[in-house]
Amino acid sequence: SFPAEAVPQAPEDPLFGLMRAYRADDSPDKVDLGIGAYRDDNAKPWVLPVVKKADEILRNDPNLNHEYLPIAGLASFTNKAGELLLGPSSPAFEEKRVSSTQTISGTGAVHLGALFLAKFYKVNGASRTVYLSNPTWANHNQIFTNVGLSITTYPYFDKKTKGLDIEGMKRALADAPERSIILLHACAHNPTGVDPTEEQWREIADVMAAKKHFPFFDCAYQGFASGDLDRDADAIRYFVEKGFELLIAQSFAKNFGLYGERAGCFHYVAPPSPQAAEITTRVASQLAILQRSEISNPPIYGARIASTVLNDKALFEEWKENLRTMSGRILTMRKALRTKLEELGTPGTWNHITDQIGMFSFTGLSETQVLRLREEFHVYMTKNGRISMAGLNTRNVEYFAKAVDKIVR
Ligand code: PLP
Repeated sequence: SFPAEAVPQAPEDPLFGLMRAYRADDSPDKVDLGIGAYRDDNAKPWVLPVVKKADEILRNDPNLNHEYLPIAGLASFTNKAGELLLGPSSPAFEEKRVSSTQTISGTGAVHLGALFLAKFYKVNGASRTVYLSNPTWANHNQIFTNVGLSITTYPYFDKKTKGLDIEGMKRALADAPERSIILLHACAHNPTGVDPTEEQWREIADVMAAKKHFPFFDCAYQGFASGDLDRDADAIRYFVEKGFELLIAQSFAKNFGLYGERAGCFHYVAPPSPQAAEITTRVASQLAILQRSEISNPPIYGARIASTVLNDKALFEEWKENLRTMSGRILTMRKALRTKLEELGTPGTWNHITDQIGMFSFTGLSETQVLRLREEFHVYMTKNGRISMAGLNTRNVEYFAKAVDKIVR
């Protein structure tokens, strides 16, 4: 016998299994509400016009080559990426307490942060548990456990209101051992679409400060939630202003439509102190070693595209316009779906469809209902009742509403 004979069969990733089932369905009515990628009104992937322009600029550059990036990535990209999150005038930059590392998109950033915490974040010699929202992006569970960190959850989604369980969340954070690691979605929470209000963020920050918790922000949808880059970064900026030491995983997959190019960034922000710059330098040196052993250096093309846009005033403005196009279409679909369901008199309340924000909505549909939607109506969504709003368009929103109406009656 050889070692691999003992390897058990792993289950298929549920989301990718769903995509496969969708592709195999030959019904002309089929609707894909599974995938977390933007689609235009024709259900087609959308290459942002500003990305096309940046691509042209790069392709016409006679000096373009395919050399390695430095270990920490393309500095013109990572610097602007940090500014996008904290705001260009954040004192954290002036005080040199931000370290930014280019990663394999948001997943790689969460992973690098997890590795860093597993190696360096100890309280009395032991690692701290990572608190994840219940529910959260499924990959968080395996990313943190794969590096040997233990995970648990804090209440987040209130099934009754289909909104935030703020009291449950605050209670759990208050009960967590001091200096726990708390994973927070910066905006457009995946999978629920439920974000804390500004006031609720303040309350969360207060509890976390009192318990000296360590915030780890996952920011995969900046600009995609409200359509406004600054507004979607409000929570992060607030925590930085409050003087937290924190981590941020940043993805440019959704907001640039650069999914497969894997453009992302990991940021460490030190709290203000006379040693902050020195600590940050040491952190950066360790991140470089982790990065070197994991991927050596990050991929170049997506970072170049984003950098081209972020460093050019006109292109940057055009990007903001493209963001408004995407978030605007999603908002329109939220309104259309809610209106259709209410017109049909579909049992239940549907205000959560428009209260929730970003790519996803937690419909409240049960697993049985989700399976019936798939079998009877060729509608593909995850078993937890999550729909990707980007999969809805002017031609299928009514069909979907009618299907939901039939199965909830
Ligand atoms: N974090 C959250 C909450 C996400 O929803 C996603 C993508 O779906 C990611 C991180 C990372 O995505 P990517 O690795 O494609 O940037």
